[in-house]
Amino acid sequence: MNLIADLHMHTLASGHAYNTLMEMVKKSAEKKLQVIAITDHGPQMPGASHEYYFGNLLILPDYIYDVRVLKGCEANILNDGSLDLPEYRLENLEFVAAGIHPEAEFDLTEKKDITKSMLATINKSYVKMITHPDNPKFPVDFDEISHAAYENNVILELNAGSFDKFKIGRRGVEEVTLKYLQAIKKYNVKISINSDAHYIDEIGRTSGLEKLVQKVGIKEENILNNNKERLLKYLNLK
Ligand SMILES: [Zn+2]
Ligand SMILES: [Zn+2]
Repeated sequence: MNLIADLHMHTLASGHAYNTLMEMVKKSAEKKLQVIAITDHGPQMPGASHEYYFGNLLILPDYIYDVRVLKGCEANILNDGSLDLPEYRLENLEFVAAGIHPEAEFDLTEKKDITKSMLATINKSYVKMITHPDNPKFPVDFDEISHAAYENNVILELNAGSFDKFKIGRRGVEEVTLKYLQAIKKYNVKISINSDAHYIDEIGRTSGLEKLVQKVGIKEENILNNNKERLLKYLNLK
């Protein structure tokens, strides 16, 4: 599997990642990535940037070191499924990813309630990807999420960071991710295998998730980050 894009990474602006945007892009170029998304945490994450950081991202050029750099965010899904950035900011970003983080006020515990929040997020027109929906700490109904993601052209992520063996409080549980992938396959959802890098060496990591993807039999054409033209077309970007 030749992955040419990494749609989830954090810079110093997240408050708990360790490189500048330029360092991240340079390393991505060295790793022969063609497209990356800069997805810093939304303002509810402790130490994250003010909303104006996300507004001003648009001053960046499309290409840096020949890498297509998507101006994005990893917004925090709040209990009611809304996000922690104003809608006009989200509408202006190229790549809005959203995920549940307990550090950012999300405190629902029931599967049906968490599913309802995530469905409300998926229904928002500017949301392009849900990050780590297979985190067992926040269980969701994978059938409902996959069906909604398909209907709304939202990418579901395979998050390599969740499976990093050194990570404290790691989220990844293989059995849960296999169930998640089966629903993805059933509903023909587009996926992206992303690093969730918080340090340059992590860019492009997959933590072996491509093996699970192959095991379940996800079609090549549904893996969005293996083809630049298909990815940009799907996102309606140039
Ligand atoms: Zn996250
Ligand atoms: Zn992240």
